[in-house]
Amino acid sequence: MKYKRILLKLSGEALMGDNQYGIDASRLEQYVQDIKKVYDEGIELAIVIGGGNIFRGVQAESSGIDRVQGDYMGMLATVINAMALQSALEGAGLYTRLMSGIKIEEVCEPFIKRRAVRHLEKGRIVIFGAGIGNPYFTTDSTASLRAIEVEADVVLKGTRVDGVYTADPEKDPTATRYQDISFQEVYEKGLNVMDMTAFTLCQENNLPIIVFDMNKKGNLLEIAKGADVGTLIS
Ligand code: UDP
Repeated sequence: MKYKRILLKLSGEALMGDNQYGIDASRLEQYVQDIKKVYDEGIELAIVIGGGNIFRGVQAESSGIDRVQGDYMGMLATVINAMALQSALEGAGLYTRLMSGIKIEEVCEPFIKRRAVRHLEKGRIVIFGAGIGNPYFTTDSTASLRAIEVEADVVLKGTRVDGVYTADPEKDPTATRYQDISFQEVYEKGLNVMDMTAFTLCQENNLPIIVFDMNKKGNLLEIAKGADVGTLIS
């Protein structure tokens, strides 16, 4: 296996499957099966999950809700997804811990770096809910920050597209995928990988990112083995 400790970022939106809102049971089950394959190889796995399938802070203002309040609502949305994922993983016999960026003691442990690392060492999948616990951030930034804190080897950003393209492949049919690309080139070309806070954190800490299609079964294991899947940014 190429990587010993992985931070996997899953978007909330991907969890919707073909629905317009919420959690799609078959998509969740596919994720569990893919995660299990990596777990069974003894790879340490931390997961950050988004909340876009339920609520995003930027939506708040158009509904007359204060932005900061909206961001906390978004963070709580990520906890709902994290709880669903935790339950599904445990249903498949995997050991997990859910750590939250804001205190919700009845359902999650608070995030404590040393404890998170210990869980990983003991073979527990650590799910980070509630983002970093601050408004005006995203779960991509959470993924970068937590990956640095727990010293993950790589951030795997699972999306609906199979990598970083020269242009948006859903709009431009001539767009081609980069196999690998440097942080600098991504920046100069203005390519969309993660928001700038998340991206800069990875760049400054020499933490590689792989953008890949999480909806294709088996991709996660292939990446863990070091196969040419998605786009490597380093
Ligand atoms: N959020 C936040 N601080 C964080 C992480 C998330 O305020 O550290 C809020 C923010 O409003 C965001 C929402 O939670 O819109 C859901 O997260 P995100 O949009 O990153 O989810 P994804 O796009 O991955 O589904």
